[in-house]
Amino acid sequence: MRPGADVVVVGGGPAGAMAAMTLAARGVSTLLVDKKRFPRDKPCGGGIRYGVYRRFPELVDYLRTTVTIHEIRKVRMEGPSGASVLAESDEPFYLTLRRTEFDAALLARARAVGARVLEAVRVTELRFARDGVAVRAVDGRVFAARIVIGADGVNGVVARQAGLGDGFSLGALAIDTMEETDLAELAPADPDTIYVAYGYKGYPGYGYVFPKRHHVDAGVGFLLSFFKERLDGAPYVHHARFLADARARGVVTGDSNPKNFKAYRLPLGGPLARTYADRVLVCGDAAGFVNGYTGEGIYHAMVTGRLAAETAAEALARGACGAAALASYEARWRREIGRELADSLRIQRRLFARPALVDTVIRAAAADRRLCRLLARVALGEEDLRARKLELALRFLFARFRRAPSAARPC
Ligand SMILES: Cc1cc2nc3c(=O)[nH]c(=O)nc-3n(C[C@H](O)[C@H](O)[C@H](O)COP(=O)(O)OP(=O)(O)OC[C@H]3O[C@@H](n4cnc5c(N)ncnc54)[C@H](O)[C@@H]3O)c2cc1C
Repeated sequence: MRPGADVVVVGGGPAGAMAAMTLAARGVSTLLVDKKRFPRDKPCGGGIRYGVYRRFPELVDYLRTTVTIHEIRKVRMEGPSGASVLAESDEPFYLTLRRTEFDAALLARARAVGARVLEAVRVTELRFARDGVAVRAVDGRVFAARIVIGADGVNGVVARQAGLGDGFSLGALAIDTMEETDLAELAPADPDTIYVAYGYKGYPGYGYVFPKRHHVDAGVGFLLSFFKERLDGAPYVHHARFLADARARGVVTGDSNPKNFKAYRLPLGGPLARTYADRVLVCGDAAGFVNGYTGEGIYHAMVTGRLAAETAAEALARGACGAAALASYEARWRREIGRELADSLRIQRRLFARPALVDTVIRAAAADRRLCRLLARVALGEEDLRARKLELALRFLFARFRRAPSAARPC
């Protein structure tokens, strides 16, 4: 048994780095292990809500100086018929960045505040004893912990080892594609506008083009069950078709570069039924904390990493690490993001069942500037849907009785 720590965090993505950073800043002895060496890439669009700055103000200066961040003030939303609207805002809606840089910066920050980080350690097993947990790696190393935080992503082992499920079912997963390509090869028509095609081709999913400072990131996402049952061809076929369509529509110029292409799974069916167990908390993708219709998960990973760490630190201070002592984690994340996640699943089910509904919404948005901006702000996490529900419903009804001036007019 190697010397471990009071808390061993498995996974060094945004969830794990945030957890380790929070624990170490509170003086809790923390070891983070990741199977990869950093900087490592994570297949991702690299878009994150602007609200991340409000939620983690202590990171704003650090991130602005260590990561190349592009601020987005315009979003074009398109429906399956091709109807689209452009929402604009004075304050940024969204930030785009490269995950290689962002994840490495968060992990470096966790190290700097005192977390011990070991790379190239793939965890395969947890063994529970009365006084702690043994975290076993594939190379035979074993690390002792009083609490384990599972931040090991969509294919994680910690939740399974803790009896929190057998992994995400087919119906709870999406397949998302991405390529991050240099602007010299593939460029958005407007470097300040993100483009989102909901219900692309009438499929249950979306396509996106996210401009970054020196790159563009683009891809498609579909429910995995739909992809397996209804679509022919490898993921790149659909990815390349989306980019060819986007080029034909003037959204991008240049060519897709298959060398930069990746496809990866994304949990899109909502959080696990339980996200804590004896001596274990799970956060980020490992626990299914992803917005059900936008596929946004970085922010939720950071929030749940922080909340898991706060719960663990308090439990350690009380000297109680069992499930009962960790149960407050669920109340914390439900209070902060539970409503958004539940609403996002409802929206996902409606939009994915009837993609044409997206066209109806977009046409209404084209007729009402405020509705358009509100929809964009809700989709990008800047507004709470329930707080705006009445206004959205009234504006939607009103807009449907007015003629849209032009489906593509900015709002
Ligand atoms: C194509 C695509 C596009 C996306 N676009 C966006 C987007 O634009 N915006 C957004 O917010 N979200 C997006 N997401 C979702 C987002 O990428 C995830 O929600 C986010 O990365 C979750 O962070 P995490 O820390 O929970 O997990 P991850 O970032 O997956 O990190 C998990 C870490 O655990 C490590 N690990 C895994 N297993 C083990 C093990 N056994 N032992 C040790 N270490 C292990 C991995 O190496 C990894 O470093 C996208 C996802 C995909 C697939």
